Amino acid sequence: MPPVKHLSVSSVGHYMKCARSWKFCYLDRIPSPSTPDMLFGTAFHNVVEAYIREDHAPDLPELFRAEWAQQVEACQEIAWGRRTYEGMMALGVRMCASPDIIGALTRMGVALTATGAPMIEHFFKFDIPGLDVPFLGYIDLVHDDGVIGDLKTSRTCWTPLDARMSLQAPLYMAGLRSTGREVGSFFRHHVFAKDRAGYELWETEITEERIAWACEQVRAVWMGVKHGVFPPSTSMAWWCSPSWCAYWDVCGRAGS
Ligand code: SF4
Repeated sequence: MPPVKHLSVSSVGHYMKCARSWKFCYLDRIPSPSTPDMLFGTAFHNVVEAYIREDHAPDLPELFRAEWAQQVEACQEIAWGRRTYEGMMALGVRMCASPDIIGALTRMGVALTATGAPMIEHFFKFDIPGLDVPFLGYIDLVHDDGVIGDLKTSRTCWTPLDARMSLQAPLYMAGLRSTGREVGSFFRHHVFAKDRAGYELWETEITEERIAWACEQVRAVWMGVKHGVFPPSTSMAWWCSPSWCAYWDVCGRAGS
């Protein structure tokens, strides 16, 4: 049995993109530098959560400046590429001052827990038949009408296909159900697009068929992990390149 204690959406998505890279990351534990976009996403996410938690009080641009500085400072190695610290800071401040984004956050009603705290970062863990390990995750937020919400910073706006093909939505729906909570049949993706510093909302219906399809994907990944199947990604994929893959040098893809 591989020394893997659980699966998650990000781990499954990683394997589906490139199983070899998954092995380098989760089994061989080869350290890889963080990217500015990853750190940006975390900083922006934290700002939005603080806005919700503190009942719309914070000065968002100021909060972003502090979060961004903290994320960068805490990181040992960052592959900056063409990005710069100042450029990403300016982008985050612009997004946090965007009327489009502030309006969306103001309208975002969030459910409360029994203790009156907003339902954000809600943990779930459940068993998917055929898996020897649990599947777990954190739901970004549950809306006041019971619908699950996810916060995503994206390079560009989404297409209908992005929303329809999301593996996360059906799995998080199944995850929240497993906690015994009454869940509707919709899922909201709150997308914060960096290219236009704007916001868009995608709401999709999650059918039983979509949940079954998502569990099937997870099972297929687990079978690959369990039986040591770690093929390389297709070289045609945009992420299989020295500028995107953190394991380019280790992989030996350059010489293949
Ligand atoms: S270089 Fe390509 S095949 Fe190798 S680990 Fe990276 S994405 Fe996978």
